[in-house]
Amino acid sequence: MLSIKNLHARIEEKEILRGINLEVKAGEVHAIMGPNGSGKSTLASVLAGRSDYEVTSGSVTLNGKDLLDLSPEDRAREGVFLAFQYPIEIPGVSTINFMKTAVNEIREYRGQETMDAVSFLKLMKEKMKLVEIDESLLKRALNEGFSGGEKKRNEIFQMAMLEPSLAILDETDSGLDIDALRIVANGVNKLKTPNNATIVVTHYQRLLDYIVPDFVHVLYKGRIVKSGTKELALELEEKGYDWIKAEADAQT
Ligand code: ADP
Ligand code: MG
Ligand code: MG
Repeated sequence: MLSIKNLHARIEEKEILRGINLEVKAGEVHAIMGPNGSGKSTLASVLAGRSDYEVTSGSVTLNGKDLLDLSPEDRAREGVFLAFQYPIEIPGVSTINFMKTAVNEIREYRGQETMDAVSFLKLMKEKMKLVEIDESLLKRALNEGFSGGEKKRNEIFQMAMLEPSLAILDETDSGLDIDALRIVANGVNKLKTPNNATIVVTHYQRLLDYIVPDFVHVLYKGRIVKSGTKELALELEEKGYDWIKAEADAQT
């Protein structure tokens, strides 16, 4: 599904990603971990198509399509969901109305019939139940005055509504409490199907107590220096990153 080959990217003059290789197949959940400053958020941003990063070499394809060639909007239409794509507050626009537009826009792009109010409401109720979000939150202006946990819930709800083929969640270090982590984890677990894939970027071992990833990768100095299964996350919890840094530094 997603294929990243020898990806290099820089910001200003600084090379941050220095040869990322990653294959993600449908049905898989991949966790990307690593010490602070290793390039995790940069990788997520580059996949999102954020303009402040310059890709200097390598390729990223989604189902054979060149992702790097597409605008962030077209990436979303192609089925990529980036959790921080809509973190903006939109005064006066409720999540409901925002999502209605987003869902129909994507359906149109895919050549599907747009949803009328009744079927949209039905879909919404179904997804609300699935991700356990309260309708009152959806009626409020998008992200305006939302708590950290409410933002997360909203984000997972958006993901449920858009049914992406590839979801990329960057769980940044910005004070996520255990409840927020649980919301994200439950969402990822419930939305997992044989046809979609998820990349969870995190430096929280704890998140992986709730999400069971199929693969865990450690990013260090802009490269994936170790890959494994969920046992690797447990090993990191126990031993930290120093041994991995030492191993990687010895090789360069
Ligand atoms: P992580 O998410 O793994 O903690 P980041 O991707 O946020 O790491 O950052 C990787 C490196 O890139 C860090 O050294 C960071 O200081 C640098 N970096 C990130 N964003 C910028 C920026 N806007 N300008 C300059 N350097 C940046
Ligand atoms: Mg960081
Ligand atoms: Mg980060």
